[in-house]
This record gives sequence, C-alpha cells and structure tokens, in this order.
Amino acid sequence: MPKGRWDTQIYRKLCEELKWFLWRGLWLTVFIAALAGVMLAIYYQLSDKTTYDYARARFDWKAEPSSYLTPFDEEFGNYNVLLDAHAHTTYSDGVLTPAELVDYSKANGYNALMVTDHQTVEGGLAAERYAKEHYPGEFVVIPGMEYSCCRIHMNLIGINETLLVVSDKPTDEDLRRIIQQVHDLGGLVIVNHIPWSTYVMTPWNVARLPDHPTRQALLDMGVDGFEIVNGDTFDLRTYQFIQSQPGRQRPIILTGSDTHTPDTAFAWTVMRAVNLTKEAILDEIRNRRTSFLLDPAGLDHKAVVGRKESYYRVAPFTELSKYFASFYYQDKGMYSFKGTFCQPEYVYVHKSMIGFFVLYMACMLVGFAILQMLWRRVRTKMAMMWLRWQWLRWWHRRLFGRGLDFSPNTGMLPATTP
Ligand SMILES: [Zn+2]
Ligand SMILES: [Zn+2]
Repeated sequence: MPKGRWDTQIYRKLCEELKWFLWRGLWLTVFIAALAGVMLAIYYQLSDKTTYDYARARFDWKAEPSSYLTPFDEEFGNYNVLLDAHAHTTYSDGVLTPAELVDYSKANGYNALMVTDHQTVEGGLAAERYAKEHYPGEFVVIPGMEYSCCRIHMNLIGINETLLVVSDKPTDEDLRRIIQQVHDLGGLVIVNHIPWSTYVMTPWNVARLPDHPTRQALLDMGVDGFEIVNGDTFDLRTYQFIQSQPGRQRPIILTGSDTHTPDTAFAWTVMRAVNLTKEAILDEIRNRRTSFLLDPAGLDHKAVVGRKESYYRVAPFTELSKYFASFYYQDKGMYSFKGTFCQPEYVYVHKSMIGFFVLYMACMLVGFAILQMLWRRVRTKMAMMWLRWQWLRWWHRRLFGRGLDFSPNTGMLPATTP
C-alpha cells in the first residue's frame, strides 16, 4: 500500500472522530444550557415555597423562665408580666399567623406581646382580637407597627392605626414628625436593634441601614426608648448610653424576640402591673418600672418545624437547582420595606464554579467517547469468540454425533448416548 494513502486514511479517521466529538460537545452544551435554565426557573419558583410547614407546628409546651432566671436589675423584686416587645406575623414578613404567633409566645412563657409588623398595625389588631377571644385575662396583645426604612427601624407601639412611612430615606424632620404623630395618638416610639441596623455589610462595607441617626440624635428627636435585647443580642453599648443619661430622663428599655420564624425565646421584659391590661402595661413602661430576664442560650424547649411533604417530592430538583444558582451571586442589599433597597445591587459571577462544572462535563464527554470506543472493540472480540464457539460445537457434533455436555453432576463425558 502506498505511504500517502495510509496517511490520508488516518487523517480522515481523525477528522471523523473530531467531528463526532464536536457534534456531541454541541449537543452537550445545548443540553446543559437547557438544564441550567430549567434549574434556575425551579430555584426561583420552588425553593422557598416548599421548605417548611409552619401551619403544622404545635406550640404545646409551657416555659417558665421565672423558675431559673432573675431580673437584670437585682433589686427589681417580683413581677407578674412577661412581655415580648417585638414580633412579626404573616401581615408582614413573618411566617406565623397572628393566632399562631400568640400561641407560640404563650408557650415561651410570655403573657404579653407587642405585635409589630413592618409598616402595618393590622397584624397586631388581628392578634389582639384572637387573644381577647381565646385567652381573656390570661394573655394580652399590644398592637404596634415597625416603622421600617433605610435609615432606621423603630417600633410605634400602643397605636391602633397604621401610620404612613413617607420615604425609604426619611429626613430627620420626617422622623421628628412621625414621633410626634405617635405621641399625639398616645403611643410610644422605641428604637429597634441598633447593632443589627449599624452592622457593616459586605461587599459594600456600609451599614445595613446607612445613615442611622446616633442615639443622642434620636433622643433629641423625641424617641421614648431603645430595644436593648433583640433576639439573642444584648446591646451593651446602648445600655451604657442609657445609663449615662440623667436619671429622670432615662430612655425606656425593652426587649424583643423579633420573631419572624419560630425558634426559641431569649429575653422577657418584666414588670408589676396592677392588672393584665394594655393600659396598665403601657403605664409601667412609661414610668420606666421594668426590668428583663435574659438567657443567651434560649429556652431548653425549642420550636421544631418539619418540612413540607411536597419538599421531599421536589427535593431532587430544588436541591440540584441550588447548585446551578450558585453559579452567580446576586445581592440586592437590605430591603427598605418601601419597594427599594438600601445598597446598590451587587452581582458576582462565580467563574471557577462554572469553570469546574464545564471541565467535569468535558471530562465526562471524553470518558464516554473512550468507553464507547472500547466497547466497539470488545464487542467485535466477543462476537468473534461466540462464532468460534459455535464452530467448535458444530465440529464436535459432526465428529462425535452429539453436542458438548458440561453438566455439573458428571466429572467426565457422559457414558451413554441416547
Ligand atoms: Zn427591624
Ligand atoms: Zn422586626
């Protein structure tokens, strides 16, 4: 055979292999792109909605924090009210309905609760109706709302109507006006979770709520007090600031669970009220006759919420979709609760995440091609072996008049022939 022709054959063969490979690669790319698209659609449609079943959670324990905790102010003495001054329902971004929130709060040893949904008092009013109907004289709800924007979160409590948050970035004058409005309605203004609000967020390196007024500026604007414990965080700096104020003008100190999802309780604002009513409790708070219990570890009994049945059904898709969603990172920043965000949107594409995925897919494609090639060869060999075997059997029958016998009960060829 001439040399040139042999080379051309190899060249043709290589071209064919390459074409096959590129064709498969193209199909694989289309497949992966479609898969990623479907996965991202699943991620945005299902991931959150199918996870936990809060409606089935039962809050049927009864915690007694008084049995092992003593008030922060050692001389405080006895008390009859255990208050949670900050919690959310499904009327804003909480997961519990007003009724469920009241039951959860009761289980955690509270007998008074301020329901403070973002921008609305409706959740508080609904919770108040439920408590009055189901636990009269046993549990009291004080409606309020959490005034939320990009500068500050503050609880407007003891009001029965929703006040309008005018802007996502209100001016000092706007803040002064809303504080005055609450006071005119007989309510109180409590500044919430300063450590959370002023926490510097990455990747922007600015506070979660940029341009938060200082504690002193807030006092000058007329706020009544501060949330000193939010969830499990004790705000020592604000506590010290309050202690530095002259005795008679000391701001109010309250504690709030800021419950959005049920978990456990860490702090209870305590007081001695003449009776278990909204008015009597607000009166004690106004006169600064409160203290609090604090257990940074939370109660022994913690709310356990199971996953929804539908979660298991769609888990292969939702969990896999999370991997595809990790190809990029998108952070809009802190939500203002006014339709905007407090930081500029940040989008980051995880190049190495995508790179390694593509690399492994390419390896799989090459591996598949190799396996297929090997299989083609083995298949030919096996076909040859099978043919030889048939040939041997045929000759055996021709020579000895019977087929090959390998029955296990005989050590030798059968003695008799039929
Ligand atoms: Zn808040
Ligand atoms: Zn809150």
